[in-house]
Amino acid sequence: MVLLLRKMTYFHNKNFLMRKKIVAGNWKMNKVLDEAVALTSELVNMAKDEVRNDAKIILCPPAIYLTTIQKYIENEPNFALAAQNCSDKVSGAFTGEISAQMLQSIGVQYVLIGHSERRQYFNETNALLAEKVNTALANGVSPIFCCGESLEQRQNDDYIGFVKNQLTESLFHLSEEQLKSVVIAYEPIWAIGTGLTASAEQAQDMHAALRAHIASKYGADVADEISILYGGSVTAASAPELFAAPDIDGGLVGGASLKSREFTNIIKAR
Ligand code: PEP
Repeated sequence: MVLLLRKMTYFHNKNFLMRKKIVAGNWKMNKVLDEAVALTSELVNMAKDEVRNDAKIILCPPAIYLTTIQKYIENEPNFALAAQNCSDKVSGAFTGEISAQMLQSIGVQYVLIGHSERRQYFNETNALLAEKVNTALANGVSPIFCCGESLEQRQNDDYIGFVKNQLTESLFHLSEEQLKSVVIAYEPIWAIGTGLTASAEQAQDMHAALRAHIASKYGADVADEISILYGGSVTAASAPELFAAPDIDGGLVGGASLKSREFTNIIKAR
């Protein structure tokens, strides 16, 4: 209720209205081809029939399916594609890697950068992620930059400072124009795939702190234009309250994005 009231006061703020509303589905390493196609077709049909808001729906399938899924969404203006990762290198002898230029060449508009699983299992550091952000932007692919603290860090007094520092070290070298092409996804690691969701209050506090941090470097007008998504066990049940918070511009959804009914209901909550 408190968050809803706060959001209503924000409705008078032009920049708030200008921010892109986004619901992104991160399929991670799930689905074989037939299942990926079936999920996409179901989502497209359900969105046509049921979604009445203007949320951008971003699908993040495994890279091997990007060109196939592209065909199913190319005539759907609300849908877009994201890769789950890209190389920090431009091109060359990097076996198994996929460059931002390759993504751009097949029409991929977004790329997840710095997902906590990449940070944790592939040792991706803030400095490396800054390079990935650079190569994505240089090729016209918008980074969806993921950040967030572990449970251990949350129990430490300065967990907000920890997440702010992820932004500082990976994004704050960008120009104002470049930063405006970045979407931020706050994903507390303790909430990813665990069934534990941050409360709307907890998520709003972090989103507001990150927006203030951006404002301190780039000014309030720029900060007000940046979409900040929440991720971490979002479901159709938790989405309405989370999305009602004034600084939460949508969601990055993992497990629940693998089910067309559930994901569509989350999109409808946006
Ligand atoms: C994610 O992987 O980005 C995510 C938020 O996963 P889940 O929704 O399953 O917690």
